[in-house]
Amino acid sequence: MSLAATIEIKGWCPGALRPMESGDGLLVRVKPWASALTLAQAGGLAAIAERLGNGHIDLTRRANLQLRGVAAQSLPELHRALGQLGLLDPDAEIEAARNIMVGPLAGAEGRAIAAALTEALSADRRLAAGLPAKFGWLVDAPGPLSIIGERADVALCLLPEGVALRVAGRWLGLASRDQIVSCLLAASRTCLDGRPMPSLAGMDSVPVPGRQRLGRIGDAFGIAAPFGRLEAGQLQGLVALAAKAGASELRLSPWRAVYLDAEIEGASALGLIEDGEDPLLRIDACPGSPACRAASVDARRDARRLAAWGFAGTLHVSGCAKGCARSAPADLVLVGGDGRYGIVRNGTARDRAQRTVEPGELATVLRG
Ligand code: SF4
Repeated sequence: MSLAATIEIKGWCPGALRPMESGDGLLVRVKPWASALTLAQAGGLAAIAERLGNGHIDLTRRANLQLRGVAAQSLPELHRALGQLGLLDPDAEIEAARNIMVGPLAGAEGRAIAAALTEALSADRRLAAGLPAKFGWLVDAPGPLSIIGERADVALCLLPEGVALRVAGRWLGLASRDQIVSCLLAASRTCLDGRPMPSLAGMDSVPVPGRQRLGRIGDAFGIAAPFGRLEAGQLQGLVALAAKAGASELRLSPWRAVYLDAEIEGASALGLIEDGEDPLLRIDACPGSPACRAASVDARRDARRLAAWGFAGTLHVSGCAKGCARSAPADLVLVGGDGRYGIVRNGTARDRAQRTVEPGELATVLRG
């Protein structure tokens, strides 16, 4: 199969300049540069969420943030506020094309490459406009928080001997550092129309991905929010703790943990998770009722009950069969409908349920 044929061309992704209608108002996706926010940006976003949204902020699996519950008439003010924070792209086309995820420990070199790639996309409008909506890049370096295992159409890993390049899931070889941006652009054209890549040097081993870890990891300190949902007040509190500890920024990750560049104290008092073994980390749950009009069950309330009862595997609690919170299979999936839950084992929210139960009967599900 050609590289071009493996690229999915479907759908579109919301942004700040092109928000999406959802059950609780407009959903505004903010894409931090190089997957990181300064403390001033994070505090500013919390204030915007409080003032112009409903205070709910989602961490996404592409290391972005989503503000929820924004009214259409608030958009001009929201765009002004994001612009003042340096979080707004010049136009919707560049915003849509700038899907560049940077690893939490990719360092200054990784960020410089992401910035140069953004600049190159802005200069090549034809390429930017031709990219499929979900086309994405990944910039990373080896280490305990490497994100190299994540999906990306074009991925690179900074190695001492050169820059390892992966295109449409295949490691192709090593590019030289001074040509990496032109190689990334060439790789995206290869994905689009199959034109040949420039030749690359051979490489021996493929970098090993990291895994979700919280607490202290080298110079970083990780925390997570239950179900990837931060409330504006929690984010303000986190910014205050970070400032007190001398941190300068929040780095986002595709597993929705947030990493700071200093160790903070008191995150759990804010309702945040510091323990990498917390059962809530194994559970994906959409907002459910009453936040989403499509739901007839309170998915997150029931997910917390299941976590407290000690379910051992991966669990997805979905307000309806759309399955917004997780597309990958889970060991147990509860799918809401007509006030009950359909039970799916080793599948997704779209699979056929084996039986249905009332929310009050969920304890029986854990017994098999
Ligand atoms: S899965 Fe259904 S209930 Fe949950 S957020 Fe998506 S549409 Fe709403």
